[in-house]
Amino acid sequence: MEREVRVRFAPSPTGPLHIGGVRTALYNYLLARKLGGKMLLRIEDTDQNRFVPGAEQYIMDSLRWCGIEIDEGIEQGGPHAPYRQSERKPMYRQYAQQLLDSGSAYYAFDTPEELDAMRARLTAAKVPNPQYNSITRAQMRNSLTLPAEEVQQLLDSGAPYVIRLKVPRKEEIRFNDLIRGWVVVHSSSIDDKVLMKSDGMPTYHLANIVDDHLMEITHVIRGEEWLPSAPLHVLLYRYLGWESTMPQFAHLPLLLKPDGTGKLSKRDGDKLGFPVFPLEFHGKDAETGEPTVSSGYRESGYLPEAFINFLAFLGWNPGTQQELFT
Ligand code: GLU
Repeated sequence: MEREVRVRFAPSPTGPLHIGGVRTALYNYLLARKLGGKMLLRIEDTDQNRFVPGAEQYIMDSLRWCGIEIDEGIEQGGPHAPYRQSERKPMYRQYAQQLLDSGSAYYAFDTPEELDAMRARLTAAKVPNPQYNSITRAQMRNSLTLPAEEVQQLLDSGAPYVIRLKVPRKEEIRFNDLIRGWVVVHSSSIDDKVLMKSDGMPTYHLANIVDDHLMEITHVIRGEEWLPSAPLHVLLYRYLGWESTMPQFAHLPLLLKPDGTGKLSKRDGDKLGFPVFPLEFHGKDAETGEPTVSSGYRESGYLPEAFINFLAFLGWNPGTQQELFT
């Protein structure tokens, strides 16, 4: 049976929405509209340290100004509410437990000092990429190395722990990206990523996969900076038994600095004389803490139609002379 096309824009409320984020949202929206599907907005706010008050509202106001309509989300509601990850904690815990029960994940009790010591040992031994993985986990304090009674005692005593994914040592992980084509990664290059943190919050990886599955997402369209995470996500789909409904991935090229050396920043925009935010943003100077105001397209007098038209043409052309699109 054909599934309804469902896409999502899943920003973390860590600051204002950058022009690159708007472009990702636009591509999701256009695919949903073209294929008669649904566009979801999900707020990924599990990283409490990076939370910026007001950012969530800013993101929603910006999308509205741009004319990017959301079908399901915080304001619109929908069958999969809540759409804010901090309100979905019990679900992530349940799937972390499923992974523990099936042996695809394990408890790790290592202290920050023990982790530092491990990295120092590996660095001294000239291991190029020190990781907590299928080789090094054998020397650490986790539920794979400790006797079962000790693990239970630690859990009962409330000792801090994280839950890690047990990544296989030797396996080829492959998926077909709609833009990149076949991507093949060897599992030895992936570490045993933390899925649940010691504060009981899931990490991005677990929460993102659980939500994409439960929200029946068919296409994950996101920036290329997430391409290295995708193989890990493929493993998670497999271990959770969700491979047959795994979404299709499309990793979009980023908007780069004019010299191509990195992601376009607010400073590049200032230099080139154009804003990188849709709306004015009230922030703080990183060094002095003084309030700052960055102008947005709206305040600079650009019409949303012009802004969106400009964004659509970055990295795409219809192959005709038509330059104006609604
Ligand atoms: N929360 C992630 C971000 O801020 C979402 C990445 C994804 O779409 O999977 O970009």
